[in-house]
Amino acid sequence: MRKSEACRLGEHYHSRCDILKVLFPMPELPEVETVARGLRQAVLGRRILSVALGKTDFIDDPAALEEHLPGRAIEAIERYGKFMLLRLSAVAGANDNHREGDAKRASLLVHLGMTGQMAPSPAAKPREKHTHVCLLLDDGRELRYTDARRFGRIAYLTEVPLEQELTRFGADPLEIGKEEFVKRIRERHARIKALLLDQSVLRGVGNIYADESLWRAKIHPSQLGAKLTCRQAETLWRALQEILRKAIVLRGSSISDFLDAEGQPGEYQRRHRAYGREGKNCQRCKTAIRRGIVAGRSSYFCPSCQRAPRGFTVLPLPPRTARVRSPKPRRAS
Ligand SMILES: [Zn+2]
Repeated sequence: MRKSEACRLGEHYHSRCDILKVLFPMPELPEVETVARGLRQAVLGRRILSVALGKTDFIDDPAALEEHLPGRAIEAIERYGKFMLLRLSAVAGANDNHREGDAKRASLLVHLGMTGQMAPSPAAKPREKHTHVCLLLDDGRELRYTDARRFGRIAYLTEVPLEQELTRFGADPLEIGKEEFVKRIRERHARIKALLLDQSVLRGVGNIYADESLWRAKIHPSQLGAKLTCRQAETLWRALQEILRKAIVLRGSSISDFLDAEGQPGEYQRRHRAYGREGKNCQRCKTAIRRGIVAGRSSYFCPSCQRAPRGFTVLPLPPRTARVRSPKPRRAS
């Protein structure tokens, strides 16, 4: 393959990935919180009787699920960053003579990837296409995980591996205090968008809520964390918390396949002010929202409200938007 061809393909691949990320964003904190709340109402306290698996390439150790889940009750369902944690009891009636770990609590870690859904369903109801995990519950229902793209992840973890898994994550953006947030952001030379997306700094923020909170705080995504003033960082902390809380109330953003545990789409996408609004008017100043690549991701911002640091490249508006905004002058006849 000629080099130029490879480059072109590479560009094509990257732009396709970028399109996929726009069309199929990963569920972020509000979407995962929404699913976790729905599941809490639906399956908390139920005991798992058996496990049936379909495709397993997104499961850490499929055999461990089949071996160690039956007999455990779902004691709690928590959100941890973009993950859900199903906290499970010890296996009913297990004692130390049982298989390793069965007399102790364990957890099921679930990441919904781009298209994952987890919801209970009557066991008799035919399984939908792409159903890959079915946990038969003691009330005759199945807790089913469907995932067309299988970019999600499921892992059965006992105490120590779970602890190791969770230590790599940073603070919960809804729990972190103002001073700590300001410190974490301002001590870093990375771009603010990259810092917000970095799960070891904050856990649970992705592309949508990073862009929305930066727009609200009037900070350009490519600004360096270390260059923000204390006041800017405080404004961002407040904006991020307000936006995440509001998005949870509205059950998250449904851009693509996201549905909550009851199969309902979220509503927050109607409140987006920057994300996915390239070419549309900024709701503060009427300037067209633009797009640029920061931290390898499409980033949407208002070029007037969010001043770019020097040297930042704004991507040209796509032809359709550009045509609407600046019609070609007619040739005089
Ligand atoms: Zn603006």
